[in-house]
Amino acid sequence: MSTAVVDDVVAEIKNLKKKIGATILAHYYQESEIQELADITGDSLKLAREATKVLSPVIVFCGVHFMAETAKMLNPQKKVLLPDLEAGCSLSDSCPADKLERYQEMLRINGRKFQTVTYINSSAAVKALSDWVVTSGNAEEIIRRVPEEYEILFVPDQHLGRYLSEVTARQMILWNGSCMVHEIFSVHDLVRLKQKLPNAITIAHPECPKNILEHTDFIGGTEAMIKHVSQFKEPTDFLVATEANMLWQLESKCARHRYHPVPGITCACNKCPHMARNTLEKLRDCMLTGKPEITWQPEFDKAREVLERSLLNVPAKAVSGGHPHGD
Ligand code: SF4
Repeated sequence: MSTAVVDDVVAEIKNLKKKIGATILAHYYQESEIQELADITGDSLKLAREATKVLSPVIVFCGVHFMAETAKMLNPQKKVLLPDLEAGCSLSDSCPADKLERYQEMLRINGRKFQTVTYINSSAAVKALSDWVVTSGNAEEIIRRVPEEYEILFVPDQHLGRYLSEVTARQMILWNGSCMVHEIFSVHDLVRLKQKLPNAITIAHPECPKNILEHTDFIGGTEAMIKHVSQFKEPTDFLVATEANMLWQLESKCARHRYHPVPGITCACNKCPHMARNTLEKLRDCMLTGKPEITWQPEFDKAREVLERSLLNVPAKAVSGGHPHGD
Protein backbone atom coordinates (compact mmCIF):
# COMPACT_ATOMS: atom_id res chain seq x y z
CA MET A 1 0.00 0.00 0.00
CA SER A 2 1.24 3.50 -0.79
CA THR A 3 1.62 5.95 2.09
CA ALA A 4 -1.46 7.87 0.92
CA VAL A 5 -3.58 4.70 0.92
CA VAL A 6 -2.27 3.72 4.36
CA ASP A 7 -3.20 7.19 5.65
CA ASP A 8 -6.72 6.82 4.22
CA VAL A 9 -7.20 3.39 5.83
CA VAL A 10 -5.89 4.68 9.16
CA ALA A 11 -8.32 7.62 9.00
CA GLU A 12 -11.20 5.23 8.22
CA ILE A 13 -10.26 3.02 11.17
CA LYS A 14 -10.20 6.01 13.53
CA ASN A 15 -13.64 7.15 12.33
CA LEU A 16 -15.13 3.67 12.56
CA LYS A 17 -13.76 3.24 16.04
CA LYS A 18 -15.76 6.26 17.22
CA LYS A 19 -18.83 5.35 15.17
CA ILE A 20 -19.26 1.80 16.50
CA GLY A 21 -17.79 2.41 19.95
CA ALA A 22 -14.79 0.11 19.68
CA THR A 23 -11.65 -0.38 21.73
CA ILE A 24 -8.71 -1.85 19.82
CA LEU A 25 -6.47 -4.28 21.69
CA ALA A 26 -3.26 -5.39 19.99
CA HIS A 27 -0.68 -7.99 20.94
CA TYR A 28 3.00 -7.06 20.93
CA TYR A 29 3.50 -9.47 18.01
CA GLN A 30 1.28 -7.43 15.65
CA GLU A 31 2.83 -5.25 12.96
CA SER A 32 3.82 -1.81 14.29
CA GLU A 33 1.20 -0.01 12.15
CA ILE A 34 -1.51 -1.94 14.03
CA GLN A 35 0.11 -1.48 17.46
CA GLU A 36 0.30 2.28 16.79
CA LEU A 37 -3.48 2.41 16.26
CA ALA A 38 -4.37 0.33 19.29
CA ASP A 39 -5.85 1.73 22.49
CA ILE A 40 -4.09 -0.97 24.48
CA THR A 41 -1.05 -3.09 23.60
CA GLY A 42 0.24 -5.94 25.70
CA ASP A 43 1.09 -9.58 26.20
CA SER A 44 -1.63 -12.19 26.64
CA LEU A 45 -1.99 -11.63 30.39
CA LYS A 46 -2.15 -7.84 30.19
CA LEU A 47 -4.62 -7.93 27.29
CA ALA A 48 -6.87 -10.48 29.03
CA ARG A 49 -6.96 -8.33 32.17
CA GLU A 50 -7.40 -5.06 30.27
CA ALA A 51 -10.23 -6.57 28.23
CA THR A 52 -12.29 -6.85 31.43
CA LYS A 53 -11.99 -3.07 32.00
CA VAL A 54 -13.13 -2.00 28.53
CA LEU A 55 -16.24 0.20 28.66
CA SER A 56 -17.07 0.35 24.94
CA PRO A 57 -19.59 -2.16 23.51
CA VAL A 58 -17.13 -3.53 20.93
CA ILE A 59 -13.65 -5.01 21.38
CA VAL A 60 -11.53 -5.42 18.26
CA PHE A 61 -8.83 -7.91 19.11
CA CYS A 62 -5.73 -7.75 16.95
CA GLY A 63 -4.05 -10.99 17.84
CA VAL A 64 -4.78 -14.65 17.20
CA HIS A 65 -7.94 -16.67 17.67
CA PHE A 66 -7.37 -18.01 21.20
CA MET A 67 -6.71 -14.45 22.44
CA ALA A 68 -9.96 -13.12 20.99
CA GLU A 69 -11.78 -16.15 22.46
CA THR A 70 -10.28 -15.29 25.84
CA ALA A 71 -11.46 -11.68 25.54
CA LYS A 72 -14.97 -12.92 24.70
CA MET A 73 -15.06 -15.38 27.60
CA LEU A 74 -14.11 -12.64 30.04
CA ASN A 75 -16.62 -10.22 28.44
CA PRO A 76 -19.67 -12.24 27.46
CA GLN A 77 -21.81 -9.13 26.93
CA LYS A 78 -19.43 -7.47 24.50
CA LYS A 79 -19.10 -7.91 20.78
CA VAL A 80 -15.59 -9.22 20.09
CA LEU A 81 -14.20 -8.93 16.55
CA LEU A 82 -11.07 -10.56 15.18
CA PRO A 83 -9.86 -9.05 11.86
CA ASP A 84 -9.04 -12.50 10.43
CA LEU A 85 -10.80 -15.56 11.84
CA GLU A 86 -8.07 -17.77 10.37
CA ALA A 87 -5.39 -16.18 12.58
CA GLY A 88 -4.57 -19.34 14.50
CA CYS A 89 -1.57 -20.52 16.50
CA SER A 90 0.68 -23.51 15.87
CA LEU A 91 1.18 -23.97 19.60
CA SER A 92 -2.55 -24.06 20.31
CA ASP A 93 -3.08 -26.44 17.38
CA SER A 94 -0.50 -28.85 18.83
CA CYS A 95 -2.93 -29.75 21.62
CA PRO A 96 -6.37 -30.75 20.31
CA ALA A 97 -8.99 -31.07 23.07
CA ASP A 98 -10.04 -34.64 22.20
CA LYS A 99 -6.43 -35.84 22.37
CA LEU A 100 -5.87 -34.11 25.71
CA GLU A 101 -9.07 -35.60 27.14
CA ARG A 102 -7.97 -39.13 26.15
CA TYR A 103 -4.53 -38.57 27.66
CA GLN A 104 -6.00 -37.27 30.94
CA GLU A 105 -8.29 -40.30 31.05
CA MET A 106 -5.34 -42.64 30.55
CA LEU A 107 -3.45 -40.93 33.41
CA ARG A 108 -6.48 -41.30 35.71
CA ILE A 109 -6.92 -44.98 34.81
CA ASN A 110 -3.24 -45.43 35.74
CA GLY A 111 -3.95 -43.94 39.16
CA ARG A 112 -2.06 -40.67 38.62
CA LYS A 113 -3.23 -37.75 40.76
CA PHE A 114 -2.62 -34.57 38.78
CA GLN A 115 -3.79 -31.10 37.95
CA THR A 116 -3.67 -29.76 34.42
CA VAL A 117 -1.89 -26.42 34.02
CA THR A 118 -2.51 -24.98 30.57
CA TYR A 119 -0.66 -22.20 28.83
CA ILE A 120 -3.07 -19.53 27.58
CA ASN A 121 -2.04 -20.37 23.98
CA SER A 122 -4.74 -23.02 23.74
CA SER A 123 -8.31 -23.36 22.56
CA ALA A 124 -11.30 -22.73 24.82
CA ALA A 125 -12.07 -26.48 24.68
CA VAL A 126 -8.60 -27.24 26.11
CA LYS A 127 -8.97 -24.54 28.77
CA ALA A 128 -12.26 -26.14 29.77
CA LEU A 129 -10.37 -29.40 30.47
CA SER A 130 -7.87 -27.59 32.69
CA ASP A 131 -7.48 -26.71 36.35
CA TRP A 132 -5.40 -23.61 35.69
CA VAL A 133 -4.60 -21.34 32.77
CA VAL A 134 -1.26 -19.53 32.86
CA THR A 135 0.63 -16.99 30.80
CA SER A 136 4.40 -16.54 30.71
CA GLY A 137 3.76 -13.59 33.08
CA ASN A 138 2.04 -15.51 35.90
CA ALA A 139 2.99 -19.18 35.36
CA GLU A 140 5.49 -19.44 38.22
CA GLU A 141 3.04 -17.95 40.70
CA ILE A 142 0.22 -20.29 39.66
CA ILE A 143 2.41 -23.39 39.66
CA ARG A 144 3.44 -22.65 43.23
CA ARG A 145 -0.29 -22.68 44.11
CA VAL A 146 -0.76 -26.27 42.92
CA PRO A 147 -0.68 -28.47 46.05
CA GLU A 148 2.45 -30.63 46.29
CA GLU A 149 0.45 -33.86 46.36
CA TYR A 150 -0.57 -33.33 42.74
CA GLU A 151 1.57 -34.01 39.72
CA ILE A 152 1.37 -31.30 37.08
CA LEU A 153 0.36 -32.04 33.53
CA PHE A 154 1.63 -28.97 31.63
CA VAL A 155 0.19 -28.30 28.16
CA PRO A 156 0.82 -27.47 25.36
CA ASP A 157 4.32 -25.88 25.32
CA GLN A 158 7.08 -28.35 26.16
CA HIS A 159 9.79 -25.65 26.26
CA LEU A 160 7.93 -23.34 28.63
CA GLY A 161 6.94 -26.39 30.72
CA ARG A 162 10.53 -27.61 30.98
CA TYR A 163 11.74 -24.12 31.93
CA LEU A 164 9.00 -23.78 34.58
CA SER A 165 9.75 -27.22 35.93
CA GLU A 166 13.36 -26.11 36.46
CA VAL A 167 12.59 -22.77 38.12
CA THR A 168 9.84 -24.11 40.39
CA ALA A 169 11.53 -27.48 41.07
CA ARG A 170 8.23 -29.26 40.28
CA GLN A 171 8.14 -32.51 38.33
CA MET A 172 5.89 -32.14 35.29
CA ILE A 173 4.35 -34.32 32.67
CA LEU A 174 5.01 -32.27 29.52
CA TRP A 175 2.84 -32.16 26.43
CA ASN A 176 4.86 -32.32 23.24
CA GLY A 177 3.80 -28.96 21.71
CA SER A 178 5.80 -25.93 20.63
CA CYS A 179 5.56 -22.55 18.92
CA MET A 180 6.77 -22.52 15.31
CA VAL A 181 8.27 -19.03 15.78
CA HIS A 182 10.23 -19.60 18.98
CA GLU A 183 11.28 -23.11 17.96
CA ILE A 184 13.39 -22.00 15.02
CA PHE A 185 15.88 -19.58 16.55
CA SER A 186 19.35 -20.53 15.41
CA VAL A 187 21.76 -21.11 18.28
CA HIS A 188 24.60 -20.94 15.77
CA ASP A 189 23.60 -17.41 14.67
CA LEU A 190 22.98 -16.34 18.26
CA VAL A 191 26.52 -17.35 19.25
CA ARG A 192 27.88 -15.51 16.19
CA LEU A 193 25.93 -12.37 17.15
CA LYS A 194 27.23 -12.60 20.71
CA GLN A 195 30.79 -12.76 19.38
CA LYS A 196 30.13 -9.71 17.20
CA LEU A 197 28.57 -7.78 20.11
CA PRO A 198 30.35 -9.16 23.18
CA ASN A 199 28.80 -6.61 25.56
CA ALA A 200 25.25 -7.25 24.38
CA ILE A 201 22.67 -8.72 26.74
CA THR A 202 20.55 -11.59 25.41
CA ILE A 203 16.87 -11.67 26.37
CA ALA A 204 14.67 -14.61 25.37
CA HIS A 205 11.08 -15.75 25.72
CA PRO A 206 10.65 -18.97 27.73
CA GLU A 207 8.90 -20.55 24.71
CA CYS A 208 12.40 -20.84 23.16
CA PRO A 209 14.11 -24.23 23.25
CA LYS A 210 16.67 -25.04 25.94
CA ASN A 211 19.68 -24.58 23.61
CA ILE A 212 18.71 -20.89 23.17
CA LEU A 213 17.87 -20.32 26.84
CA GLU A 214 21.29 -21.70 27.80
CA HIS A 215 22.88 -18.74 25.99
CA THR A 216 20.49 -16.19 27.47
CA ASP A 217 21.07 -13.59 30.20
CA PHE A 218 17.40 -12.91 30.91
CA ILE A 219 14.40 -15.19 30.36
CA GLY A 220 10.92 -13.71 30.51
CA GLY A 221 7.66 -12.98 28.71
CA THR A 222 7.22 -9.81 26.71
CA GLU A 223 6.07 -7.60 29.62
CA ALA A 224 9.00 -8.84 31.69
CA MET A 225 11.35 -7.99 28.81
CA ILE A 226 10.12 -4.38 28.76
CA LYS A 227 10.63 -4.08 32.51
CA HIS A 228 14.07 -5.64 32.30
CA VAL A 229 15.48 -3.38 29.56
CA SER A 230 14.07 -0.26 31.26
CA GLN A 231 16.30 -0.96 34.27
CA PHE A 232 19.43 -0.27 32.17
CA LYS A 233 20.07 3.47 32.31
CA GLU A 234 22.99 3.52 29.84
CA PRO A 235 22.37 2.76 26.12
CA THR A 236 22.85 -0.99 25.77
CA ASP A 237 22.76 -3.60 23.00
CA PHE A 238 20.12 -6.30 23.47
CA LEU A 239 19.84 -9.48 21.43
CA VAL A 240 16.15 -10.34 21.40
CA ALA A 241 14.84 -13.89 20.95
CA THR A 242 11.10 -13.55 20.49
CA GLU A 243 8.69 -12.60 17.70
CA ALA A 244 10.32 -9.80 15.69
CA ASN A 245 7.51 -7.22 16.05
CA MET A 246 8.37 -7.04 19.76
CA LEU A 247 11.38 -4.95 18.77
CA TRP A 248 9.08 -2.09 17.78
CA GLN A 249 7.46 -2.17 21.21
CA LEU A 250 10.86 -2.24 22.95
CA GLU A 251 12.08 0.65 20.80
CA SER A 252 9.01 2.75 21.56
CA LYS A 253 9.15 2.08 25.32
CA CYS A 254 12.95 2.27 25.77
CA ALA A 255 14.45 4.11 22.80
CA ARG A 256 17.90 4.65 24.34
CA HIS A 257 18.91 1.03 23.68
CA ARG A 258 19.78 -0.84 20.49
CA TYR A 259 17.84 -4.04 19.79
CA HIS A 260 18.99 -6.85 17.50
CA PRO A 261 16.68 -9.71 16.51
CA VAL A 262 18.14 -13.17 17.02
CA PRO A 263 17.83 -14.75 13.55
CA GLY A 264 15.91 -17.90 12.83
CA ILE A 265 17.20 -20.94 10.97
CA THR A 266 15.09 -20.16 7.93
CA CYS A 267 14.90 -16.36 7.91
CA ALA A 268 16.67 -13.26 9.19
CA CYS A 269 13.92 -12.49 11.67
CA ASN A 270 11.08 -14.45 13.21
CA LYS A 271 7.63 -13.15 12.47
CA CYS A 272 4.51 -15.09 13.35
CA PRO A 273 2.60 -15.87 10.13
CA HIS A 274 -0.64 -16.21 12.10
CA MET A 275 -0.38 -12.75 13.66
CA ALA A 276 0.54 -11.38 10.22
CA ARG A 277 -2.89 -12.40 8.87
CA ASN A 278 -4.33 -9.32 10.57
CA THR A 279 -3.77 -6.32 8.32
CA LEU A 280 -4.89 -2.69 8.39
CA GLU A 281 -7.47 -3.38 5.69
CA LYS A 282 -8.92 -6.36 7.57
CA LEU A 283 -9.00 -4.28 10.75
CA ARG A 284 -11.02 -1.63 8.91
CA ASP A 285 -13.29 -4.19 7.24
CA CYS A 286 -14.19 -6.01 10.44
CA MET A 287 -15.33 -2.73 12.00
CA LEU A 288 -17.25 -1.87 8.84
CA THR A 289 -19.13 -5.18 8.63
CA GLY A 290 -19.19 -6.30 12.30
CA LYS A 291 -17.58 -9.58 11.22
CA PRO A 292 -15.84 -11.92 11.87
CA GLU A 293 -17.22 -12.06 15.38
CA ILE A 294 -16.29 -14.48 18.17
CA THR A 295 -19.58 -16.01 19.27
CA TRP A 296 -20.29 -17.85 22.53
CA GLN A 297 -19.58 -21.59 22.36
CA PRO A 298 -20.78 -24.26 24.84
CA GLU A 299 -17.26 -24.88 26.20
CA PHE A 300 -16.82 -21.19 27.03
CA ASP A 301 -18.76 -21.49 30.33
CA LYS A 302 -16.31 -23.94 31.90
CA ALA A 303 -13.25 -22.31 30.31
CA ARG A 304 -14.33 -18.91 31.64
CA GLU A 305 -14.44 -20.22 35.20
CA VAL A 306 -10.86 -21.54 34.86
CA LEU A 307 -9.68 -18.27 33.29
CA GLU A 308 -11.26 -16.10 35.98
CA ARG A 309 -9.71 -17.91 38.92
CA SER A 310 -6.33 -18.13 37.16
CA LEU A 311 -5.95 -14.66 35.69
CA LEU A 312 -8.32 -12.47 37.68
CA ASN A 313 -7.93 -14.15 41.08
CA VAL A 314 -11.64 -14.90 41.32
CA PRO A 315 -11.89 -17.30 44.30
CA ALA A 316 -11.58 -20.98 43.33
CA LYS A 317 -14.82 -22.94 43.16
CA ALA A 318 -13.61 -26.09 41.49
CA VAL A 319 -10.04 -26.51 42.71
CA SER A 320 -10.30 -28.01 46.15
CA GLY A 321 -8.46 -31.25 45.65
CA GLY A 322 -11.39 -32.95 43.96
CA HIS A 323 -11.57 -31.26 40.60
CA PRO A 324 -12.94 -33.62 37.97
CA HIS A 325 -9.97 -33.02 35.68
CA GLY A 326 -7.41 -32.85 38.43
CA ASP A 327 -7.36 -36.30 39.89
S1 SF4 B 1 4.20 -16.56 18.00
FE1 SF4 B 1 3.93 -18.81 18.30
S2 SF4 B 1 2.69 -18.97 20.14
FE2 SF4 B 1 2.49 -16.83 19.42
S3 SF4 B 1 0.66 -16.88 18.10
FE3 SF4 B 1 2.44 -17.22 16.76
S4 SF4 B 1 2.58 -19.48 16.62
FE4 SF4 B 1 1.28 -19.01 18.38
